[in-house]
Amino acid sequence: MDWADELAASVDGPQVVNDSKTPSGTVHIGSLRGPVILDVIVRALRKHGVPTTLLYGVDDMDPMDAQALLTPDAVDRYMGAPLAHIPDQVADGHASYARHHAQTFIDVFDGLGVRPDRYYWMSDIYPTGDVDPFIRTALDRAATVREIYRRVANVRHPDTWLPVSVVCPNCGKVGTTFATDWDGETVAVACKPDLVTWARGCGWSGRVAPWKGAAKLPWNLEWAAQWSLFGVTIEPCGKDLSTRGGSRDRSDAIAREVFEREPPRNVPYEFLNIGGKKMSTSKGLGAAAHTMAEVLPPEQIRFLFVRHRPESVIEFVPEGTDAIPRQFDEFDRLARATDGQDVKGELPSGYDSIFAYSLLDPAADVAAEAAAYRPPFGHLALLVQVPGVDVLARVEAEKGAPLTDHERARFDERLGAVRRWLDGYAPESAIVAVQPALPAAADELDDEQRAYLGALADAVASGAPTSGDDWQAAIFAVANERGLDGKRAFGALYRSFLGRTNGPRAGWLLASLDRDVVVRRLREAAGAGQGATA
Ligand SMILES: [Zn+2]
Ligand SMILES: [Zn+2]
Repeated sequence: MDWADELAASVDGPQVVNDSKTPSGTVHIGSLRGPVILDVIVRALRKHGVPTTLLYGVDDMDPMDAQALLTPDAVDRYMGAPLAHIPDQVADGHASYARHHAQTFIDVFDGLGVRPDRYYWMSDIYPTGDVDPFIRTALDRAATVREIYRRVANVRHPDTWLPVSVVCPNCGKVGTTFATDWDGETVAVACKPDLVTWARGCGWSGRVAPWKGAAKLPWNLEWAAQWSLFGVTIEPCGKDLSTRGGSRDRSDAIAREVFEREPPRNVPYEFLNIGGKKMSTSKGLGAAAHTMAEVLPPEQIRFLFVRHRPESVIEFVPEGTDAIPRQFDEFDRLARATDGQDVKGELPSGYDSIFAYSLLDPAADVAAEAAAYRPPFGHLALLVQVPGVDVLARVEAEKGAPLTDHERARFDERLGAVRRWLDGYAPESAIVAVQPALPAAADELDDEQRAYLGALADAVASGAPTSGDDWQAAIFAVANERGLDGKRAFGALYRSFLGRTNGPRAGWLLASLDRDVVVRRLREAAGAGQGATA
């Protein structure tokens, strides 16, 4: 079993799986680990026959605290205001800043096959009054809340502090108000110019009844209230929030001791560490999701997260390495194993589930997907670099049949990823240029290598191999016959065709070229330098 099946086998009764997110800024590749884990848990629960609901919250009553995201004229007015109350900073028709940014991540999730049963917006929930009982309880038990902050997180609020953030009736900011003196119906509120460094309150003070959207709960309490409101039973949580004394610990304690409900089961998950200059951001979450999606199609992004257990750190260095081709290869290997074919190497536990949960469509025919023909990434990367090659025709020759419509769609997607990989990520060694004439490097071939190339030319002159695998086999077979080690055999081929000493899989290289061209070049190289030494 894979990790998600293990989890699904351990629960009792219907499950409500939840996560929520503040809608601001760019969606980074690293921040997609949570949503994919969430979705895989839901798929696993449903596969095990557990009735399951997936909810996703938009925490859009959170205050704006990132100046860089506002146009300059909006900074004074909106820093500290609820995200839901800030106008869209891009004139493209969203009702608010929050709706604009939430749409970005909703679209990204959808593209990854992560489709919650319901998105709920805290700016819609508060006005209904549904949160009011939790606000009342929090205010009644404010001393307990303050004690929890002290005990769990070593955060000391003044004894007058109350666990509620009132929206200032004068300036509309929520990040700048300080509430005291709960009398059972209202609180005293001061909108302070200097409460926080990132926003300036207007100085208003007065009493406010904190109901129906006039106030919000501070984050840790809002989180715990969501669990009670929606009956959440499972909520995975990133490492940044799962540390001891961190956000999750506080909310767990608030759920138990203030709202008197057992918190949902946590599935703590680790970071994705993305290496490479292009990928790094100040927040360490890696490239923007839409940039990464150009080179990793949705199934590959899912696979990146599904193949690792949540508690393990993922180190991913896509730039200047073959990490991306290797990941495609591993995906293809698990597909073949799921199809019942023999594969090299050890298989991960639950490999067939890992493959199935990586597929975009939860209702996909897993057996048909596993049996589909997938051209190896490295092979495509080579074919697209050889001038005049009809890549699709070569791939269909390798398969031995035309691609199905479904395979064709996947092929197009993969080919796009290959081109972008070569464009911006591939190491120097993956970039090849087949030389139009015998390269000078062929002069450095020794006698054994030249004899080998001649023998290979003879072997393939009649009945040449067609597929890359057949070529690879022929290259090895002739080398074995002549007692030439593989490294020198390949070196001879790279010198003769690429003018250098290394390169991608030689069988694919030769298969991508016209057979007559290959035979002529092999014979030429076999004779190279002999005139000079004779
Ligand atoms: Zn917009
Ligand atoms: Zn104010």
